[in-house]
Amino acid sequence: MITAKTLKLSLKSLREFAKKRLTDEELIALDERDECPLEIVRHMCSPDKLGIQLLFIPEEFGGFGGGAFDVYCVCEEMARIDLGVATAVLATFLGSDPITVGATPEQKKLWLSRIADEGLLFAYGATEPDAGSDLGALQTTADRVMEGDRIVGYRINGSKQWISNGGIADAYTVLANTPAGPSWFVVERGAAGFTQGKPENKHGIRLSNTAPLSFADVQVDLSRLIGGVEGQGLLQAQAVFGYTRLMVAAFGLGAGWAALDRAIPYSTKRIQAGAPLSEKQGYTHKLIVPNVVRLEAGRAYIEETAERIDAGEGSLNTEGAIAKYMSTEAGNAAAEASIQALGGYGYTHEYMVEKISRDVRITCIYEGTSEIMEMTIARDRWQVHLKTRGQHYHDRAREMEALAAQHPNAGAREAAIAMHALADVMEQARVGRLTRFQHILLRLGEWIAYAECAGVLARRVVRLAEGKLNEKANRRFDLATFSAISRIFAREAALKVSTEGHRWIEGCGVEAPAPDLAAVHRAQAGLMADMDLVADALYGRSTKAARAA
Ligand SMILES: Cc1cc2nc3c(=O)[nH]c(=O)nc-3n(C[C@H](O)[C@H](O)[C@H](O)COP(=O)(O)OP(=O)(O)OC[C@H]3O[C@@H](n4cnc5c(N)ncnc54)[C@H](O)[C@@H]3O)c2cc1C
Repeated sequence: MITAKTLKLSLKSLREFAKKRLTDEELIALDERDECPLEIVRHMCSPDKLGIQLLFIPEEFGGFGGGAFDVYCVCEEMARIDLGVATAVLATFLGSDPITVGATPEQKKLWLSRIADEGLLFAYGATEPDAGSDLGALQTTADRVMEGDRIVGYRINGSKQWISNGGIADAYTVLANTPAGPSWFVVERGAAGFTQGKPENKHGIRLSNTAPLSFADVQVDLSRLIGGVEGQGLLQAQAVFGYTRLMVAAFGLGAGWAALDRAIPYSTKRIQAGAPLSEKQGYTHKLIVPNVVRLEAGRAYIEETAERIDAGEGSLNTEGAIAKYMSTEAGNAAAEASIQALGGYGYTHEYMVEKISRDVRITCIYEGTSEIMEMTIARDRWQVHLKTRGQHYHDRAREMEALAAQHPNAGAREAAIAMHALADVMEQARVGRLTRFQHILLRLGEWIAYAECAGVLARRVVRLAEGKLNEKANRRFDLATFSAISRIFAREAALKVSTEGHRWIEGCGVEAPAPDLAAVHRAQAGLMADMDLVADALYGRSTKAARAA
């Protein structure tokens, strides 16, 4: 268990370390040299130095036993510093996940204690040249090595691709096909027949080592089969998706904010047409505020999901997918807008937003692409829609209406409109049998993510208002601003679900009753004042709107 105070101190020492050792100049130079700063990564993972990995290791194995909420906070902070270094440090966590969820007690003790005590770096080896999103297409094999009729080990053959820490890790968790199906193995660096290829020349996260792995008759003994039972690999990988996707969601969030936190101060100093850019509404309301709003919607979903995981609600894979999808897409858009916000300077290396934009792009790809997230979300919630005979989102909308009755400014009323519209679109898709179109299924995934985020954001505003927000929760915004953020996002969600949903239902040739667009449009009332309020909060200005709220 990590207390709020310990977490705060850990984040502070992380920031201080980065300030000294990972300055902008250093990061730019490493990025240009395409170099992973191994010594810094080791420093961050050493138990007698920063010891970041200790936060994630259970107490019984020498760590601090951090939960999902702690992991989110550390991942966001790391991503604010550098997403490549964050990937290198957190790859150990990802790499050891199959052990955490699936290993025998002896295996856990061995490997998790070694990560805690020795700062062992891990890599997670799942992807292959022909098995990316579809891990079922896995071709790496692990053949049994027999002594009489007893299995004594395995012989691994095949290759892995795009493995973070691939060239620098001390140990690797490797997914391979046994006779009884995919299984995880631990393979140590230096094993005979195991080679690491040269690092990829990548678009971004150039401070992270990404390399292919090759296995030619690599022999491991039985104790290296995670869990000791064949065929559990895909289940073990699934069991941590909620958790690991939350980590990447936090990466998107941290990197997106890192870019905006450069664009915002820049715009206060850059004078054009006689005034700072920060005073130009056409600038702030296009490039800054909408990105802040979407990032905070993603954060709300991350925080609620992390709390639920920590409360023991299970691995919450669909929620992890929504958190990842929304936060990484928002982070990517925020970094892209930050380049625009800095104009020509944004397009150069020196001002960092260009690097952040290249770096954050990976978050929409690794740990499951955005399209795979859309599919995951839609498939799960489609089943819920069917089971509840189309009532699921109408019920959620009614909960929002009840919340709005108590807290009229929290964005719950607008979220309810989005949810009713979503329920209607899903029902029209069912009647028209439209999920046979993959595009409709994936678009449903997007609309579901927007509507759910709107609901979660409103719930967190209410918790802030009632003084019930988790003490580790982010408190960058006061209640008035947070409420405005929630309303802006929920209005966007309502408009998106209603108009895009109807467009695609009709687009499939199904005549459907038009959504109540008048209500959706009426809900946009106050949008400009809310955008002004958020802009003023970001720039530390006080306004009429803020005072009135
Ligand atoms: C820098 C970097 C680091 C990485 N680190 C690791 C690591 O440490 N360990 C590891 O195991 N892997 C790692 N990966 C691999 C990463 O997880 C995969 O790249 C990712 O899952 C996508 O797989 P793919 O590249 O084969 O793309 P593909 O699966 O071929 O996808 C290509 C495109 O098609 C879309 N697509 C795929 N399937 C479908 C479908 N059924 N329907 C519709 N659209 C679809 C995708 O969304 C994507 O847009 C890393 C990748 C990179 C680039």
